[in-house]
Amino acid sequence: MSLIVMKFGGTSVANEERIRKVADRLIEHKKAGDQVIAVVSAMGKSTDDFVNLAHNINPDPPRREMDVLMSAGEQISMAILAMAVEAKGYKAMSFTGSQAGIVTDVEYSKAKIREIKADRIFYALNKGYIVIVAGFQGVTKSGDITTLGRGGSDTTAVAVAAATGADLCEIYTDVEGVYTADPRICPRAKRLDVINYEDMLELSDSGSGVLQSRSVEFARNFGVVIHCRSAFSDKPGTLVKEVSDMESAVITGIAYDNSEAKVTLRDVPDRPGIAAQLFASVASVGANVDMIVQNVSENGMTDMSFTTPLKDLPLVKDLLDKLVADLGARSYLIDKSISKISIVGAGMKTNPGIAAKMFSVLAENGINITLISTSSIRLSVVIDGSLTEKAVQCLHTAFGLDSDTVFEETQLSSEELAAKAKKGR
Ligand code: ADP
Ligand code: ASP
Ligand code: MG
Repeated sequence: MSLIVMKFGGTSVANEERIRKVADRLIEHKKAGDQVIAVVSAMGKSTDDFVNLAHNINPDPPRREMDVLMSAGEQISMAILAMAVEAKGYKAMSFTGSQAGIVTDVEYSKAKIREIKADRIFYALNKGYIVIVAGFQGVTKSGDITTLGRGGSDTTAVAVAAATGADLCEIYTDVEGVYTADPRICPRAKRLDVINYEDMLELSDSGSGVLQSRSVEFARNFGVVIHCRSAFSDKPGTLVKEVSDMESAVITGIAYDNSEAKVTLRDVPDRPGIAAQLFASVASVGANVDMIVQNVSENGMTDMSFTTPLKDLPLVKDLLDKLVADLGARSYLIDKSISKISIVGAGMKTNPGIAAKMFSVLAENGINITLISTSSIRLSVVIDGSLTEKAVQCLHTAFGLDSDTVFEETQLSSEELAAKAKKGR
């Protein structure tokens, strides 16, 4: 008898038919004698709808109330799925994050799981129930509802798998696993049989939304092997686990992120303390900063650019006029149509010349780079957002990642595809 955690994303539970299919999958394992815990996301794009609703009512919704609202979608799917299982003659019991004992800190909208008190989960499992846990949510010590950041149901699944000592953690989604690039913008992307935690973490951090980066961090820290696979087929997907460096490809995958904006301060006096003053102000309003670049100074003046999430831009915007005056800069510019393209691979550590190759491939394709950043296993460049697909595809080909077959979408409706295409923008 195994204990299995199976997580189903929004597309996988988007309608009645898909929910019944999920119920069948859970029952199949139950019949085989396994103990089953399902973790579910909100149906379809209902979380996006909640965000829009909230902002129509209040452009600056209170963060606590926002989490109460955002957590509602998962509560609907968990109950409906439990009903679908019961309708098929099996016992199911659903739990909200709070009922499942998922205790978090108080950082609304990006809370971190501190502890899982899994007693009620074990009680229900031992009574023979299929347990269904709402993804993406937890509760603070004082009883307030929190959410774990967009895509957070992945993290719920991995954390529950770690806390219950599950034998398997399966993440069911709408593609057949982790690919060398998002197959929706790079049709020649290849599904990977296996990827190590380090590469997966870097891909997720760089924008590959297939697994939330916190879930990968959790999996690495607690040694949980993730099997990321399709909810629409029985084909094996991708294993995310520890793999020795020896087996790592030079470049494992390519990610893009179009959820950031670039802010440039023109003609800032180039003297000690300026960067500290600038970034202390940005931090003070709670805006995140990703990449930073300072140009060579001319006549004691320099340009400074940084990228910040589009969602944090309003906070930064409010600061900019004052900052320009305080720092003695000339002006500022905001570019919202940028894209960050990252190539990732643990093999990069031991293979020189990767940066030169990336830059020359982009140059040959007429793609201009405005910012660059690196880690030991990642190279990222900022380019014009309209060139995202072209950049990912030409790098994918140049680094020998192209598959012989072309990705074909078979399950999603045109509406769902359009919603996916808008993600992150
Ligand atoms: P779910 O609702 O199941 O959590 P997500 O939309 O969060 O699904 O993640 C799946 C999507 O991630 C895919 O539809 C795909 O477009 C996108 N994606 C981005 N990068 C990758 C990648 N490297 N491999 C697979 N999918 C990717
Ligand atoms: N429903 C949440 C979201 O859309 C969490 C998730 O799907 O993982 O971000
Ligand atoms: Mg997701």
